[in-house]
Amino acid sequence: MPSLQTLRDLDDHPHPLKLKKSKAPFICDGCKVEGFGFCYQCTEGCDFFFHKECGIRRPPACQKFFEGCEFKFHKKNPLGGDRICDVCALDIQGFLYQSTCRKNPNVLHPCCANLPMIISPPYTDMKIYLCNKIKTECLKCGSKKRSADKVQGFSYASSDGEFCYHVACLREVGVENWIKSYCQPDVIADNENKPLSLIDLALKKVAPVGMGAKARKQ
Ligand SMILES: [Zn+2]
Ligand SMILES: [Zn+2]
Ligand SMILES: [Zn+2]
Ligand SMILES: [Zn+2]
Repeated sequence: MPSLQTLRDLDDHPHPLKLKKSKAPFICDGCKVEGFGFCYQCTEGCDFFFHKECGIRRPPACQKFFEGCEFKFHKKNPLGGDRICDVCALDIQGFLYQSTCRKNPNVLHPCCANLPMIISPPYTDMKIYLCNKIKTECLKCGSKKRSADKVQGFSYASSDGEFCYHVACLREVGVENWIKSYCQPDVIADNENKPLSLIDLALKKVAPVGMGAKARKQ
């Protein structure tokens, strides 16, 4: 689905929002989750950001992991109490999708509900799949468990199990790399004309880590 360049007449903010690359990581004013890269920003200069997914609110791609369920967008947690996102295992504090088909409905951050199913590191034919469980230890936090809670979230993993990251950990890697790239002027110059995505940023760090893990095992 093509992205809308400008969102107008939202009841969330008095000014139109335009889709453009953020200059720094931001906290989304919809779901309250950190983001970076392309997002909706106020055209009048307010400090107001929406993830693309929090602005467009299309049916979640992750729906296929929850058989027979449909998800509805909500601006506020309709059931009250603490809710944990089934994909990243972090708290729901703003916008969410809630499933309509269970007694204890699943909930997802909008930015987690529309993650790509397959990612590929640049310059390789490696494929990394979004999985609804954690198969091996995460390369960032070193653990299979992401949270003390029952919900552990989804992961990105290669089919051979060499590459495995919690979704939340991969997002943190992306944010860290974003900050680093802004501290190194030559990296900015290199990347100025390229759209930076979570995956581009994450894998600059990820690729060597993955190879290191492989080398140690041999
Ligand atoms: Zn958001
Ligand atoms: Zn504004
Ligand atoms: Zn989430
Ligand atoms: Zn992790």
